Amino acid sequence: MEKIMTENQQEKISHMEYMEGMEQIDSDILEKVMEARAGYQPERYTGQEVKHALAAERRTPEDFAAFLSPAAEEFLEEMAEKAAEETEKHFGSSVYLFTPLYISNYCENHCVYCGFNCRNQIHRMRLNQEEIEKEMAAIAGTGLEEILILTGESRAKSDVHYIGEACKIAGKYFKMVGLEVYPMNSEDYRYLQECGADYVTVFQETYDSDKYETLHPAGHKRVFPYRFHAQERALLGGMRGVAFGALLGLSDFRKDAFATGLHAYYIQRKYPYAEISFSCPRLRPVTSLSGTEEHRFAAPWNTGTEVSERQLLQIMCAYRLFLPFAGMTISTRERAEFRNHVAGKTATKISAGVSTGIGSHSDEVTEQGDSQFEIADNRNVPEVVTAMKDMGLQPVMNDYVYV
Ligand code: SF4
Repeated sequence: MEKIMTENQQEKISHMEYMEGMEQIDSDILEKVMEARAGYQPERYTGQEVKHALAAERRTPEDFAAFLSPAAEEFLEEMAEKAAEETEKHFGSSVYLFTPLYISNYCENHCVYCGFNCRNQIHRMRLNQEEIEKEMAAIAGTGLEEILILTGESRAKSDVHYIGEACKIAGKYFKMVGLEVYPMNSEDYRYLQECGADYVTVFQETYDSDKYETLHPAGHKRVFPYRFHAQERALLGGMRGVAFGALLGLSDFRKDAFATGLHAYYIQRKYPYAEISFSCPRLRPVTSLSGTEEHRFAAPWNTGTEVSERQLLQIMCAYRLFLPFAGMTISTRERAEFRNHVAGKTATKISAGVSTGIGSHSDEVTEQGDSQFEIADNRNVPEVVTAMKDMGLQPVMNDYVYV
């Protein structure tokens, strides 16, 4: 691991060049998104343009750009109202529940903002098949029918076969299986789809290529275009759905949100059958990296422009108004009150009973690995179900049936 990192840094391996074994596909989406991001000037938009976008029947990328601009901040109430109407039109009062399951925290990358990074001295762990099954049985016991399987990004410690076996076990307990693992080639995605995976989430983290380069000094993740094209390779491999996200706060969040939306938009146009969704994570403190609040703000990845809750809501509304049919997940990085507020209005999916550590769902798994980041909403499944019902929403465990 150390060797890869030293080599990448010393030899200045370009973050835009593919490494050996990385599949290259025929796609112009990266160029389109990067060109649009480079040309996007959020401050240029006026209240008049935001009003025009709000009144539009079908919204264009220009409308989306206006929704993400500072000028739109004073129209947030109207945006939220329209977004709630769109959410209701496409999803009714349903809110889908799921939980993430971390099965390994080994990672070969050095994302400077992440607690799992290969230089961070944490307790590493990888669940074996028996432990995965115990964890899944415990989660299924809470009534959940959808699971998101996560690993750190280490092909050596969590290879495709290992992930495939986890998908097969998940098939015994859950009706929907998502993956948030390292980007891979389309044939690997095909294998995992055959093992039972339904959808793939890949966060680009930031679409600011220069910033990306500095935040990812080593490992396979350093290769920006390979990560960018992961959703497309997943669809080529037969996955039903793909999810997009930028880690808001790593770079200019308006530009990153704009690029995320456009990325999804172009994928949807090219693959109309694909189920598209967004995640909207904001940067969270990582105790093992930053220690104290002061350290957190002095951290090198901090842009000095934290994304406020209002701004996060603005981004979520903008996604909803631009791509009304897209799924949207609200993370436990956010506090319970905020999650309740957006559920059913912009967000369509909410996690419950979350732990970002390894082996912490079942009492039968005695050893535990460290967590990736701190969460702000610790509610268990019954608590989230009750909260959703109290708001007049219908908590849904799954709406997909294989025939
Ligand atoms: S963000 Fe992902 S790839 Fe990067 S260090 Fe953390 S687990 Fe590894």
